[in-house]
Formats: sequence, structure tokens, C-alpha cells
Amino acid sequence: MKLSAKNTRKTGSRKKTAGRRAAKTVLARLRHSNEGREKNRPVKIGIVAIQGDFAAHAAMLQALGARTVEVRTVEDLEGCDGVVLPGGESTTQLQFLKEEGLFDAIRKFSKQGGAVFGTCAGAILLASKVNNPPQESLGLLDMTVLRNGYGRQMASDVFFSPSTLKKEPLEMVFIRGPIIEEVGKGIEVLARHDGKAALVEKGNVLAATFHPELTDDTTVHAHFLEMAAAHAAERAGSS
Ligand code: GLN
Repeated sequence: MKLSAKNTRKTGSRKKTAGRRAAKTVLARLRHSNEGREKNRPVKIGIVAIQGDFAAHAAMLQALGARTVEVRTVEDLEGCDGVVLPGGESTTQLQFLKEEGLFDAIRKFSKQGGAVFGTCAGAILLASKVNNPPQESLGLLDMTVLRNGYGRQMASDVFFSPSTLKKEPLEMVFIRGPIIEEVGKGIEVLARHDGKAALVEKGNVLAATFHPELTDDTTVHAHFLEMAAAHAAERAGSS
């Protein structure tokens, strides 16, 4: 199926119902695991907002009950439980992250337990090794990625593949996405496309070579909010 407005439109009660259900789950997590000042606080997610579809991520996360903030400076990360690195052009984003000090700040955020989710170019930035051409990356996930791995023109399409996150197949929108060529030990593959890992996670880091934010399916974002909520709960517990 070709990419079209129909495939990427976000309407309908299906999404709203799923969104409400997931939002309840996330808020419930915070209610049960937090005491004192953080009680009932919605999960706060920073979305790196340099280019690409950061607004689509924000809309989906808000529909799931999260608070979102656009991240362009290190200060914007303050108080976030999770960070999203959206799609776009990874070389441009890398340059911006370095110039703004966000490259080091996001690495530190992750090492301290903050949840990080990269989609497409964001997944490239999370990898430990990047090919075609090689470029520096955050190295937060032990995996090798091949940029534009599905080719350039034929690379934008919609597929449905099984995942470990739900019974029904997951809708995957690919836009000049990378191929995950190799994953290191301990990386969990949550979904594949064409035999290749397409959704992977380890600990508090999640990466998709496709764009879940451009579909009606909130499964992957709800999963990410669970990861971020778990981190918020841990922080509240130790403060
Ligand atoms: N091809 C882009 C890159 O290599 C990624 C495309 C995307 O994020 N949709 O950076």
C-alpha cells in the first residue's frame, strides 16, 4: 500500500478509546508508585523539535495523557521523564544536538534512567554504529544501522507486521528509513519488517525504524509512556 493521506490520517473513535485506556494506565502507574509531591503528576515528555514530525509525536502523547514540551535547549530537558528523537534528517539533527549541547545532555539523561525513544532518524542517532555514510551517534543502543537501507524512492511505504506489544499486526509507516543490520546482546526485538528488526529496546531506550506517530495506532507510544512512567516512579521513590 502506498503512503497516502488515508493511511496517515488521524481520526476516529478507535484512537480515542485506545488513548483513554492507555492514559489511565500511565496515570495509574504514577498514582500507585509515587508518594508526596509527585502524586498524580502526568508523565512529562520532551520532544526534540528541530525538524521533522515532532508535532505528530506531541499530539499522540498528549492523547495518551502525557504532558509534552518541545526541546531545543538543554534547559528544556528539565523535569522530563522521557525524550523523543523524531524523524527527519539525522545528519542535520546530529549537528544541532552537538551545537546546543544536547548531544551530551541526552546521553546523560539516558544514563540517569530517563526514557529515550527514537523514530527513524532518531533511531539512527541512538545507534552505536551508523553506515551509509558513517556518522557519529549517541551510542545508547548497541546496534548497527544502515541509513536509507530500503533505498530512497521505494523506501516510503506502509506495512503491517506482528509485534510483541499486541495481538493485531502493527502498522509501520516507512519514510526513507534505516535498516537495523545488527543488534548487540540484550537488545529486545519487539517487531520486524522483512525479517529485519524494526522496533527494538533495551532498558530505558526504544527505537523504531518506522513512524508510529503517523498512524492511528497508539501502541508504541503507550509502551514508551510506560517506560517513562516507570522512570518517574523510580525517581520519586528515591527522592
Ligand atoms: N533518511 C533519513 C536519515 O538518514 C531518515 C529519514 C526519516 O527520519 N524519515 O537521516
